[in-house]
Amino acid sequence: MIHEILPVGMLHCNCSIFGDEESREAIVIDPGDNIDQILAILARHSLKAKAIVITHAHIDHIGGAAKLKAATSAPVYMNANDRALYDHIDMQASWLGMETPERTSIDTEVRDGDALALGPAVFHVLHTPGHTQGSISLWIPTENKLIAGDTLFRDSIGRTDLPGGDGRQILRSIRDKLLTLPEDVNVVPGHGAATTIGREKERNPFLQGLP
Ligand SMILES: [Zn+2]
Repeated sequence: MIHEILPVGMLHCNCSIFGDEESREAIVIDPGDNIDQILAILARHSLKAKAIVITHAHIDHIGGAAKLKAATSAPVYMNANDRALYDHIDMQASWLGMETPERTSIDTEVRDGDALALGPAVFHVLHTPGHTQGSISLWIPTENKLIAGDTLFRDSIGRTDLPGGDGRQILRSIRDKLLTLPEDVNVVPGHGAATTIGREKERNPFLQGLP
């Protein structure tokens, strides 16, 4: 499986591009910006995007979705609980002093327990609300990887002081959905360095003494 991680936009959102060597199909997760670079990576590997998955509707994760969809015709997947947040993307843009990006339609609403296939790999959707109400993580057992969006970071967790955030809920999501995965699972957070479930269980200061 091809996996490229490209930090995009001014907030350096980790965009993941997964590609299956056999079918040459790809799943792009969180194309926040730098769509030309994402398209170049797809072209370099001769990949065709079959799905655009959004971990949550913050502008740094979803901002480039419309442009990528226009270029690839791939459908956009997102949890319905972030629709309101996406409806206010103009507000998010003004907070950050950015131009409002073009909007796209959400083609498929993903829920907890849903799964997307890419070649032999299955991407399991875990609903992990707290950073936003529609935040999802993607668990890919054959790759031993978790795409965590802004729910879990190396040594930190997602902020919960923005609209739709809930501090107790994010800890519940992490405890019940993420820390139950095997300790050697590699975690690709929405920003910053990669980590593992075991490392965060042991060292993440926000997760010590969880009931
Ligand atoms: Zn976010």
